Amino acid sequence: MYFRPSARGSARPVSGVPAPNAAARHIPFGVSQRSVPTRPGPFTQEARRLLPRLRRWRSDFHREPELADQEHRTRERIVRILGELGIPATTYPDFTGVLGVIGGGLPGPAVAVRADMDALPVTEATGLPYASGLAGRMHACGHDVHMACLLGAAALLAGRPDLRGPVKLLFQPAEEEGERGGAGPFLDHGAFDSPPVDYVLGQHVEPGLPLGTYGWRKGPIMAAADRFRITVFGRGGHAAYPHRGPDAILAAAEIVTGLPALVSRVRDPLDPVVVSVGAVHGGTRHNILPDEVVLDGTVRTLSATTRDLMEAAVRRRVRAIARGLGARVRIVYRRGYPVTVNAPAATEVVVGALAEEFGGRAVRELERPVLGAEDFSRYLERVPGTFLFLGVGQRGAPSTLHSATFAPPDAALIMGSAGLAAATVALQGT
Ligand SMILES: [Zn+2]
Ligand SMILES: [Zn+2]
Repeated sequence: MYFRPSARGSARPVSGVPAPNAAARHIPFGVSQRSVPTRPGPFTQEARRLLPRLRRWRSDFHREPELADQEHRTRERIVRILGELGIPATTYPDFTGVLGVIGGGLPGPAVAVRADMDALPVTEATGLPYASGLAGRMHACGHDVHMACLLGAAALLAGRPDLRGPVKLLFQPAEEEGERGGAGPFLDHGAFDSPPVDYVLGQHVEPGLPLGTYGWRKGPIMAAADRFRITVFGRGGHAAYPHRGPDAILAAAEIVTGLPALVSRVRDPLDPVVVSVGAVHGGTRHNILPDEVVLDGTVRTLSATTRDLMEAAVRRRVRAIARGLGARVRIVYRRGYPVTVNAPAATEVVVGALAEEFGGRAVRELERPVLGAEDFSRYLERVPGTFLFLGVGQRGAPSTLHSATFAPPDAALIMGSAGLAAATVALQGT
């Protein structure tokens, strides 16, 4: 999951997690309280037996994290484990992804299930026995858990003669890269071709949800994240004579204060938008006006229409402010990941299966999307599917994604493996 750090340096992805009693009201799609199983479903029971292996896989990934597009050792481990499970794997000379395919014994839809592989430039401070031994590299976004869970789901599905349709296992690099990402290049390398994919599934660990729960949402669940760099050109000189040329600092300041007004006056008030300037660079000392000032910022939106609207509005507004002060601007506006939009019908099928497997109370509808972004969105632009949040929050263990102390518990590996397997089988039954 790709979060731009907030001004306070922390990312808080889920703020719309409902209270437990609110969650109970959202028991989905005809799955009543009466159908809550008194014991966990078959995938969970099997996943429990897998736990020693799941732990070993996870700790191995965690111990030696690799940054985006450098996941060479991680790739080798995945290929070896898939081999042990009897699953053929495809690798690529110019791309660190791994594609495993479990052939379906019976004809049916192809489901792609994705785990991301990359770590972050963070120095770990968890004190875990298998903590990263590498300064400035840590699985601080839980992608080690995602990989272990996908391998766990593969182990649960590989032996089933009644599997209806192929299952494609997408181990995807570079999710944290933020712009090009790894999903687009994986699609370019044919991840969704021969056999063509009908549905796609993915999940992300979420410390804002309690351990033992899944969070879900139909429609938009995560934002589009775009970024801009605005260079304001004035005329440098002695600060005692500001009237001799456009003042780049003054124009930059008006742009910084003027941009947030777009949020309240350009889009529908019910459609969330964030515009933040995260960096301002300009000037050298108190009595010299600089020639230029550079502003870096991000725009988050939850619909394609608003995304286009905001880009046009930012460009227009910045030019107008600069022109008013006689300054010139250069605007570089770069699109990052699109909005992650869960397909309603596929989400219903998956949520029904999760409720059957874990009980309705374990499956919680999120009241609001989050403004983090995911390159999983690129898969959902191609085929229907759903992106889930796997609860890893524990009382007394506050931590956030991307922090040096983020340590999701091993117990989440059971639910994360069983959930992907149950959801895959349910989608193939459609
Ligand atoms: Zn992530
Ligand atoms: Zn992340």
